[in-house]
Parts: sequence; C-alpha cells; structure tokens
Amino acid sequence: MVQIRSVGVIGAGQMGSGIAHVCALGGYDVLLHDVSEDRVKAGLAAIEKNMTRQVARGIIDHEAMDAALKRIKAAPELQSIGGADLAIEAATEDEEVKKTIFKALSPHLGKDTLLASNTSSISITRLASATDRPERFIGLHFMNPVPLMKLVEIIRGIATGPDTYETAVAFAQSLGKTTSNAEDFPAFIVNRILVPMINEAIYTLYEGVGTVEAIDTAMKLGANHPMGPLELGDFIGLDTVLSIMNVLHEGLADSKYRPCPLLVKYVEAGWLGRKAGRGFYDYRGEHPIPTR
Ligand code: NAD
Repeated sequence: MVQIRSVGVIGAGQMGSGIAHVCALGGYDVLLHDVSEDRVKAGLAAIEKNMTRQVARGIIDHEAMDAALKRIKAAPELQSIGGADLAIEAATEDEEVKKTIFKALSPHLGKDTLLASNTSSISITRLASATDRPERFIGLHFMNPVPLMKLVEIIRGIATGPDTYETAVAFAQSLGKTTSNAEDFPAFIVNRILVPMINEAIYTLYEGVGTVEAIDTAMKLGANHPMGPLELGDFIGLDTVLSIMNVLHEGLADSKYRPCPLLVKYVEAGWLGRKAGRGFYDYRGEHPIPTR
C-alpha cells in the first residue's frame, strides 16, 4: 500500500473545502487548488469558519484547529498538486471539466501518486481513461457537509487496482469515515436513490401538488427526514442535482430519470441554492423564505 502523507484537493467549493478540512484535521498536509486565487481564499475562509464552529461545540480544541490550518496551503498552479501522494478532484460536476483537469494534471504527477474523484455521478472508468494511470484511479465520494457526514462511498473503475482500493479504504477510515462500496454505474448508490427523490419533489412543486413549505414539512414530519427534499436540493446545489439527473437519464436511458423542467429553470436563472443565496428558498435575509 502507498503511504499517504500529503493530499492535493482540486476545487475549493463546498466539497473541496470540506475534504481539505477533514484531511488537515486527520494530520495530512493539504494543497488546495481552484480556478482563481479568490476561490481558494473563499475555501480557506470556509474551512476556518467551520473549524471555529467545531471548537465552539467542543468537537476539536484550539490546538488541533491551529495545527490543521497550518497544514493547508493554497496551490495557485494545478501542477503543484502533482507532488501530492493523493490528488482528490472535487471540481464542478461536469465530465468535460473533470477530464480537462485530469489531462492537464497527468504529466505533472509523481510516479506513485493516486488519483481520486469526488464525483457524485460520473463514470469513474471514463474519468480514469483521461489519465495516464487508470489502475491508480478511484472514486472517493464524500458526503456534504464533509466534516459531519460519516460515509465515503468507494467506487472502483474497471481498471482500478487492488492496491489503490486498499489504500483508498484505509485513507477514508483514517479520517474517521465508514466506507461503502458501489459499482461504477451512474450516480452509484446514494445519489441513485436520493437525487431522483429530490427531482420528484420538484415535480410535486411544478405540478402544484404542494408549496415549497408544504412539501418540505410533509417529508420532514411524514417521513422523518432531517431536511425537506427542496431544502436538501438547495443544500447540495441545484446545478449539481441537475447534472446528476442528466447523468442518470443519459446513462440509464430511462425516462423516469428526466430532470424536472422547473429544476432546469432554476439552474438557468442561476438560482443554484444556498451557495448562490437563492434556490427554492431565498437565503439572503435572516430566515430562508420560499421562492414559490
Ligand atoms: P461547488 O460549486 O461548491 O464547487 C465547485 C468548485 O470547482 C468551484 O469552486 C469551481 O471554481 C471549481 N472548479 C471548476 N472548474 C475547475 C477547474 N477547472 N479547476 C479547479 N477548480 C475548478 O460544488 P461542490 O458542491 O463542491 O461539488 C464539487 C464536486 O463534489 C462535484 O463533482 C459534486 O458532484 C461533488 N459532490 C457534491 C456534493 C454536494 O452535496 N454538493 C456531495 C458529494 C459530492
């Protein structure tokens, strides 16, 4: 098994910053990269804010936070990620974006560097084929928010080697996570089940069966879900929800996975959910207000 000491994270959004957060607390040196310095800065600020919250709740102490923050460095150039023992891609859920990153990164990788993608739905086998090392490529699907959620779904591509798999499982466990294996089919396990439910909730809204509030209250109190499905869609990011539905629809060729036109409209409007300040709820005031 490869010894992992340093982790490069590509994409400093909700997930990339969360992955960097847990890796740094787990004792790994972390390099964080995004398309611009501002994005990396925003990711670092989110990490500091979330760790401060963990300190306030007594989950970690000040020393652990300070040591972890020191372990995270901004990586303005993608090439520098190539020096890490493990590079985890957590960029936008778009196959071309991800393949372009892996193609650009491949010539700069160390001989033994392992590659992982945090994709929610895209084929690990296809992403691996954009690299020079499909046998050292794996899906490491962290859940949102990464510091809180216990699961990492592990997805092997057709070429993923046994060493890569064992190293990935040991790495996820070293972060205190539990792993679950999924085969490389569209959206794997969690999102194959979860995201069509969110899409169905959007259809329920679109067809006027209920309001935003009625749908979320019904599922919270009627199905004992901690968050309503529309609130959850906003939390994930509606662009990500739409991308996952498109991957399911195209990959499984079944009309039951067609994305709801209202979901498409929200994404076209840039109302992507929490991260954009507006989605099925408007988050710009003191309390979220339904937008329909
Ligand atoms: P996000 O929109 O918060 O962040 C994506 C980041 O990727 C942005 O900062 C963007 O600038 C960056 N990016 C785009 N192109 C890039 C490039 N060429 N190089 C470097 N960075 C680039 O999205 P997110 O929610 O963090 O999702 C990231 C990945 O994690 C996606 O694959 C998504 O499917 C997956 N994921 C998301 C969730 C969730 O609940 N949001 C859960 C699990 C997995």
